[in-house]
Amino acid sequence: MKYIGAHVSSSGGVENAPLNAHNIGANAFALFTKNQRQWVSPPLTEKSIRLFKERCEEYNLKAEHILPHDSYLINLGHPEEEGLTKSRTAFLDEMQRCEQLGLKLLNFHPGSHLNKISPEACLDRIAESINITLDQTQGVTAVIENTAGQGSNMGFSFYHLRHIIDRVEDKSRVGFCIDTCHTFTAGYNLVEEYDKVWRELDEVVGLSFLKGIHLNDSKKPLASHVDRHDSLGKGLIDKNFFSRMMRDPRFDNIPIILETPDESLWAEEIAWLRKESEQPANIL
Ligand SMILES: [Zn+2]
Ligand SMILES: [Zn+2]
Repeated sequence: MKYIGAHVSSSGGVENAPLNAHNIGANAFALFTKNQRQWVSPPLTEKSIRLFKERCEEYNLKAEHILPHDSYLINLGHPEEEGLTKSRTAFLDEMQRCEQLGLKLLNFHPGSHLNKISPEACLDRIAESINITLDQTQGVTAVIENTAGQGSNMGFSFYHLRHIIDRVEDKSRVGFCIDTCHTFTAGYNLVEEYDKVWRELDEVVGLSFLKGIHLNDSKKPLASHVDRHDSLGKGLIDKNFFSRMMRDPRFDNIPIILETPDESLWAEEIAWLRKESEQPANIL
């Protein structure tokens, strides 16, 4: 079964996110558990935590299908001591918020070398940051998102994901998330080489580590290394590709999250994806 939702707003409190997800017909969702543009946010209140859990239960939204996203400020591969420490502190706080909410996954962008250390040293740092955080927390899996490779961002190659995961000590609490827009603009031709790309991902990293999908069309072309999401069918990724993913059993039982720019289309996009997911797999 497919679990489909969107990155919904948690404005007014995290407890509003399950409600927003339910209102667009989602059975999965993503959220920020704090203001994503600030380093420090007030702790979650007891009331927010209780309401969040109650609403998830009421709307049948399970922790396995909820994919929180961390703050955009965090850089777990930061080349400088101060930025690295600040990022690790903030990442620990993000993971502890997930623990408090009873969540099991935390999605994040791996990090950037800022042209001050080598890409490999940056990847090593990211793995070390994950190890440090996992040591201090329980029950939450670190989910590395692949990137478009804009600027000095790491994570655009499947080998980067592999490099990091290889160095994480607790393999039971690390995984990755594939963003279809990022994959396409990173240079993987999902449209024309559907089977080849997923096979390569499986061979290089292993689909057993796949914990979630960000389903986005792309405004920018293949291998442009620019990250600009578009609504499904409006960008440069063929709509048939999304239909095909919905009929592919490899993406069953993990959160499939829209981060498409027009929120007013989410309910429609989810309904369409669900309809496609109900088509027989054998017409792939
Ligand atoms: Zn992201
Ligand atoms: Zn994404």
